[in-house]
Amino acid sequence: MTHRSILPQEQTVNMSPENAASRLKSETRQTNWRRANPNKYAAHIAVQRALTSGKLNKQPCEVCGASEADGIRIDAHHDDYRKPLKVRWLCRTHHSRLHKCGEDLFSKKDATQ
Ligand SMILES: [Zn+2]
Ligand SMILES: [Zn+2]
Repeated sequence: MTHRSILPQEQTVNMSPENAASRLKSETRQTNWRRANPNKYAAHIAVQRALTSGKLNKQPCEVCGASEADGIRIDAHHDDYRKPLKVRWLCRTHHSRLHKCGEDLFSKKDATQ
């Protein structure tokens, strides 16, 4: 018998910026996220590697055409995490809109199956 047990959500409440342990906590949160989303994590790593090695290049946002040259942050979005290098490039605005609104944003535009 042991006293140690893992309480999954217990530590996420205190978000105080002065919290000295905040670094540790964000690490914990990321670890939890990885554990919960192994495919996503692997896909993100694959994209980072491909970007570094030049296998993939960031493209302008496929919706509005904004690019990092404009000072806009471009994210890789995965339609399918099993295809880690099949990504769509979206600015933050359209990326979060896609996650909020779903594929509606693209249904008219994207004719590929
Ligand atoms: Zn955009
Ligand atoms: Zn996404």
